[in-house]
Amino acid sequence: MMDVSQYINDLYVKGHDNFYQMVSHSLTINHMPNISVSPETGKLLYLLVKIANATNVLEIGALGGYSGIWLCKALPDDGKLTSLELNKDYANVAKNNIEKAGYGKKVTYHIGPALETLKQFIKQKRKFDFFFIDADKENYKLYLEYSIQLAKKGALITADNVLWKGKVTDKNNQENNTIFLREFNEFVAKHSKLESVIVPIGDGLTIARVL
Ligand code: SAM
Repeated sequence: MMDVSQYINDLYVKGHDNFYQMVSHSLTINHMPNISVSPETGKLLYLLVKIANATNVLEIGALGGYSGIWLCKALPDDGKLTSLELNKDYANVAKNNIEKAGYGKKVTYHIGPALETLKQFIKQKRKFDFFFIDADKENYKLYLEYSIQLAKKGALITADNVLWKGKVTDKNNQENNTIFLREFNEFVAKHSKLESVIVPIGDGLTIARVL
């Protein structure tokens, strides 16, 4: 039987995504891990930015810029993507790919541990209307808390990999990242400032609205 991801991709992503191959190739030649969002998750992020009429997006975890391209593509001409990345070389690859995609003017990269950058943004009283969390799993809860502090009312906060290939549902799986993501999901579900759900697309995407 055909894989459901393939089915969704064939119907809704092919023809709207010219950049997956380009970014994947850049990851390979730069010896970077191939852990971009799935194309269908990219398409969902794109739609969510459009539906929310977001203009100021914060991404945590850039890698080679694949999710960044989808986020930029959804933004209006004067929209901005701020992307946080620990690894300077990765951020350079992402920047190069976003420029090739034609969105170089929309994006600013901040290099370093995202928690430090987020703390600076909070001090500077910056505000965003859309968040995409996709970096180290151990800090997901803190990324969420900081994102809420940086969020305009009604902002959307999304996070990738929250099903961790289904491992979060297996109580016998006690790997560190599985535990971090299971705790993150429980934290989001009970959070008094959020209304949320997980969409089982790609590796699982949290969608939360800030009250
Ligand atoms: N969002 C990207 C995409 O779909 O194209 C994929 C991001 S990849 C899953 C995770 C990224 O988070 C890596 O590039 C990694 O270097 C970065 N990262 C890991 N720990 C970080 C930290 N503490 N601060 C900022 N970035 C971090």
